[in-house]
Amino acid sequence: MPDLELKIRSRDIDTLIKHISEYNPDADLDLIRRAYEFSDMAHEGTTRFSGEPYITHPLEVAIILARLKLDCTTISAALLHDIVEDTGFNLNDIRKEFGEEVALLVDGVTKISHIKNRSRATAQAETLRKMLIATIRDVRVILIKLADKLHNMRTIMFQRLDKRYRIALETMELYAPLARRLGMNRVSSELEDLSFYVLYFEEYMDLKRRVQKRENEVEEYLNNVRTQLIDHLGRMGIDFEIEGRAKHLYSIFKKMQEQDKNFEEIYDIRGIRVITDEIRNCYAILGTIHTLWSPIASRFKDYIAVPKANMYQSLHTTVIGPEGHPLEVQIRTREMHATAEMGIAAHWLYKDHIGPRRATPELAILQNFSETYSDTNSSREFMTDLKMDLYEDEIFVFTPRGKIINLAKDATPVDFAYAIHTEVGNHASGAKVNNKMVPLRSRLQSGDIVEIQTSKKAHPSREWLKFVKSSNARYKIRNWLRKNNNLIQEAERDAAAAEEKRREKEAEARASVSIPSDEHIKLKKLSRQKNTPVSVAGASNVMIRLSQCCQPIPGDDAVGFVTRGRGITVHKRDCPQLKRLMTEPERLINIVWEESRDSYFPVKVCVKAIDRPNLLKDMAEKISNAHTNIIKMEAEVKEQDNAVLKFVLEVTSNDHLNAIMEKIRSLKNVTEVFKMNEKVILK
Ligand code: MN
Repeated sequence: MPDLELKIRSRDIDTLIKHISEYNPDADLDLIRRAYEFSDMAHEGTTRFSGEPYITHPLEVAIILARLKLDCTTISAALLHDIVEDTGFNLNDIRKEFGEEVALLVDGVTKISHIKNRSRATAQAETLRKMLIATIRDVRVILIKLADKLHNMRTIMFQRLDKRYRIALETMELYAPLARRLGMNRVSSELEDLSFYVLYFEEYMDLKRRVQKRENEVEEYLNNVRTQLIDHLGRMGIDFEIEGRAKHLYSIFKKMQEQDKNFEEIYDIRGIRVITDEIRNCYAILGTIHTLWSPIASRFKDYIAVPKANMYQSLHTTVIGPEGHPLEVQIRTREMHATAEMGIAAHWLYKDHIGPRRATPELAILQNFSETYSDTNSSREFMTDLKMDLYEDEIFVFTPRGKIINLAKDATPVDFAYAIHTEVGNHASGAKVNNKMVPLRSRLQSGDIVEIQTSKKAHPSREWLKFVKSSNARYKIRNWLRKNNNLIQEAERDAAAAEEKRREKEAEARASVSIPSDEHIKLKKLSRQKNTPVSVAGASNVMIRLSQCCQPIPGDDAVGFVTRGRGITVHKRDCPQLKRLMTEPERLINIVWEESRDSYFPVKVCVKAIDRPNLLKDMAEKISNAHTNIIKMEAEVKEQDNAVLKFVLEVTSNDHLNAIMEKIRSLKNVTEVFKMNEKVILK
């Protein structure tokens, strides 16, 4: 046993040293060895879930970074990255032993790992914020964190099953997209495939099997392409390498899902990459390829002249290759290739690192933020301000539970709703951004927390097509409109007819109103009470109150009483109080209920039913589905399972109340539902 451990350990530190000396002949190997020894000593006696000594983990993380050709400071920090969190040593010990720069990197990594709020709701946003702050201070922190995540994912099978799933989900939603954004495509692809394996095991195995089956065939095809290219380019004396572009499994899976295509359709598109030494050769190679096979015009993209925001550069073209297969070709220089694979890491190649921690102009975007932000800023503020300027054609926003959703720049809540689910989009009725109601057409910003409100009655409108940004949303809206065109026209006609009727009725009612002339002056002095959805013709500035004795609600048969100096009180026609006021019939005036959706009135409703399991739950559900608050509830079960329930509900009108009562009536075992004429007293 000790033999085996020693063997693994000695082999691994040598692997690390060997890798580093290959690309960095001047490396401070002494520093690396000291960091390794220190870490080994600090983690002494602890093991990983795999049973290996703990040191294998920091060592593997260091090797991943060495493969990205990083500087010795980063690699030393990687070897030490778990010490502060997991051992008895603290940051000061590391600072004393290895200096300020290594200590800062270790501190950065430790801070990201340590999340106080473990609820998933905010953990993701919080982690992301910490990572971005770290990125701004020193990009290498994020490189270590991603390498750490990568090794943990490589050994995820040693985790408990439930943890495995949670970790993989977080990796898929947070770490892989971040690596992708930082241009670290190799790391991101591996993270995606590992998470894919955990989250969709069967689909993963199925795809793997299918890809393996086609391997030889693809290899043969690529050899054919290679031979033809060597023949032509060799004559021109251009130096190049060509490689088959292995699509990682998750990207095939994602394409099948997103484009609704089967494996064959996705897999038939062959991809190659041609790598050369100089930019002008890239264009020469492009020319040659276009003479050999005919290009599909719309598919040519020159990311050399116009690099992507994450520094990616390459020529992209698609041609009809040998045997009529579409062939995707990427052409780039070795340097561009390094950037494409390693992204931001490529700018930390050990050679670039001479002193200052942020040496490359490409990172200038990040620098501006470093002074402005401290740890105390809230996640959202930080995200909103940062706006992910790194990635200018994309934004990302959060669901209320902290899930990250990628959208096109200038996307709206409608785009967001469709990104969540087609049904959410089709029934979106409103949106809250950062807890404030906003119009559905408003533009979202990176870091926004978006919440969609839905209603069964809501549906897509033609207007939406004018502002949505994503093709997904556009497609689904069109689809819905096509299917429901007739229904909408009908509904619009009905609504117009109803509106016409309502106006006629209102005009009638208004015509019959009269206010004693001596009261006019007094009434004018009173300002109208807000939110009383009642109007009286000829008196727009009158204070109108709903009387507390009979508590009328909109829709009730009610009448106004012009008081002396206290405006108008509205009573139900059958109110006993009103009978006494009848002695002055000239003071009575007609009122018109106005439509109002934001005034709520408490009413008491009684429900009689034969008790059964879930009765109360079903009832509460019906009530809340009708967008109603239950303010108070009493339940009582009498002999023979006769239940009597009393609710105080908030309704907007009589119609609303009737609709709710109708819903309750439809429940099984309910025998009677009625409004109680009891006065509702709210404390
Ligand atoms: Mn770790």
